[in-house]
Amino acid sequence: MSSTNLRPTDVLISEVGPRDGLQSVKAVMPTANKLLWIDALVAAGLREIEVGSFVPAKLLPQMADVAEVVRHALTHPGVTVMALVPNLRGAEAALRAGVHKLTLPVSASEAHSLANVRKTRVDMVKEVSAIVQLRDEIAPGVKVETGMSTAFGCTIQGEVSEDDVVWLAKECAGAGADEVGLSDTTGMANPAQVRRLFDKVRAAIGERTGAAHMHNTRGLGLANCLAAWDVGVRTFDASLGGLGGCPYAPGASGNVVTEDLVFMFEAMGLNTGVDLDRLIAAREPLKRGLPGEPIYGMTPEAGLPKGWVPHRVTV
Ligand code: ZN
Repeated sequence: MSSTNLRPTDVLISEVGPRDGLQSVKAVMPTANKLLWIDALVAAGLREIEVGSFVPAKLLPQMADVAEVVRHALTHPGVTVMALVPNLRGAEAALRAGVHKLTLPVSASEAHSLANVRKTRVDMVKEVSAIVQLRDEIAPGVKVETGMSTAFGCTIQGEVSEDDVVWLAKECAGAGADEVGLSDTTGMANPAQVRRLFDKVRAAIGERTGAAHMHNTRGLGLANCLAAWDVGVRTFDASLGGLGGCPYAPGASGNVVTEDLVFMFEAMGLNTGVDLDRLIAAREPLKRGLPGEPIYGMTPEAGLPKGWVPHRVTV
């Protein structure tokens, strides 16, 4: 999301841990812990949080309490509360719960699409269209984003053609999506590819080009975010402690670590609005809610550099 009250040089970090992170771990975080964790993320200055997904509890017991989590997140003024919805039924539940923004997973790979949402890509675009229509009817202020999974490669299908990504981005924008983000669900992207693909998508759909959602599976998460920044991307998904993955992308693990991403941008002189000390402190409620679960991050381990002053340079 590119909010109008931000300076053009600012970066919006969209925290996806409570959704992408929690859906990929076996343990179920108790609701009370989720609320404390979200409070700590807000206290750190995060202004957009994907708090869960509206999916049947049978499929993802981690998300059974999503409506309650949304209700709580909505008590924080100024925070954009997002939820992932895979279909119209989920979208209706999320809209009725009062979210500010929906994110819909649309796979660039046909094989991943069938595994993840049990629909072809074309059928998923129809679903996007139906969701946009429902949004217009019952909650016209809500933004609809499509997050294009496997845009940079797929563990099932292998290579994903750039023409397919551009085609699907146009289809999603044509179906009414306000923003079309690109996701490296499987951690296969490289910086040259990120620049090329975001450039192509922007040439095709202009300002509807959305967030970069990068995974750190092969250690290139930050490099890929920087590449996306270079070609005009200003919204970045990240997950506290690098929690995350995709249950239908075998071997995919680890979103970009929010702490490291914030450190990179702030050290470059860009204002993320996030306080790093408080962000690192937000790992405590995460650890308490998921005892024994490994969490990652180089910046929290190394600590902040001596004399650290965030975003002191004006770019
Ligand atoms: Zn992800």
